[in-house]
Amino acid sequence: MLKDSFNRSHDYLRISLSDQCNFRCLYCMPDEQMEFKPAAHLMSADEVVHLAEIFIAQGIRKIRLTGGEPLVRKDAKEIIERLAKYPIELSLTSNGVFIDKFINSLVTAGVHSINISLDTLDPIKFKSITQRDVFDKVWSNVKLLLQHQIHVKVNCVVMKGINENEIAAFVDLTKDLPLHIRFIEFMPFTGNDWNKNKVFTHSEILAEIEKEFFFIKLQDAKHDTAKKYQVQGHKGTFAVITTMSEPFCSDCNRLRLTADGKLKNCLFSAEESDLLNQLRAGKDILPLIQQSVLNKKMSQGGQFSDTFSDTDPLKLINRSMIDIGG
Ligand code: SAM
Ligand code: SF4
Repeated sequence: MLKDSFNRSHDYLRISLSDQCNFRCLYCMPDEQMEFKPAAHLMSADEVVHLAEIFIAQGIRKIRLTGGEPLVRKDAKEIIERLAKYPIELSLTSNGVFIDKFINSLVTAGVHSINISLDTLDPIKFKSITQRDVFDKVWSNVKLLLQHQIHVKVNCVVMKGINENEIAAFVDLTKDLPLHIRFIEFMPFTGNDWNKNKVFTHSEILAEIEKEFFFIKLQDAKHDTAKKYQVQGHKGTFAVITTMSEPFCSDCNRLRLTADGKLKNCLFSAEESDLLNQLRAGKDILPLIQQSVLNKKMSQGGQFSDTFSDTDPLKLINRSMIDIGG
């Protein structure tokens, strides 16, 4: 088991399959001219599977494929099918556009839960947030996943002045659809123009919902990053991911592997360990993995102030979200 110096056990690995994306979400990858890494610098399918195997042997029990957009990779199906053979819970975070092309592979691979990003229910606003005019496609793919009995979590990044007026409409969706809406507080990453005034916090989100609904708190599972709620009688649930206002690091069990094979022990860690190049050089990478886990800081990569409003985004050493793998 991979334990850090705070005795936290790590059994959840998020693997980024690509630093590329077919969307240009303003909070994630604002620069249309962003340069992507050459394919030779990224993990091949064999390397993804080999690295996953090493982690699984160390107690990893859950793997989430992410990116960039994981489904833009030509060999994404092959990777999903190969990883599905291991004794892990395999899941995916996607912008949803290619889900219909992958639905058979996802069902065959036994993927039971998928996170789809959707920040607005307004097609025009969708285009202004993502720079792509494909709201209808994403929404029909959400419904396609539900038809296949796949548990769908909808990730909605709430930004003040952009979409906080749609929070109640998202909660309303849970009345008739078994959707699990997760409102995410806007986080700072390299190049995303974050500032504290754009963060719409957990308490502000709940206050918006209280104006229209009576809801109850649900029990959160161990290691959950989301605080879960439900409007009584609704089929689905909603939750808030409170990274900025109430960080949940004390119980963290997550590690991240970037598409270029660097291990990040935290979403906000400045430090990275180059597993891919050491693997290509024929080195034993287990000591590197163990050391990286031991170096993990108690909270938010050790880079944030006690209250998020005192955090200076320009002082954070990190990558853009698309380049980390969210
Ligand atoms: N392309 C896929 C997608 O959009 O779902 C996977 C990668 S994306 C980086 C993973 C998640 O990170 C998405 O749900 C996205 O909304 C979230 N995300 C990206 N930038 C963020 C930010 N600055 N603050 C909070 N969440 C963010
Ligand atoms: Fe692409 Fe996902 Fe980032 Fe949007 S949030 S730009 S879909 S990686």
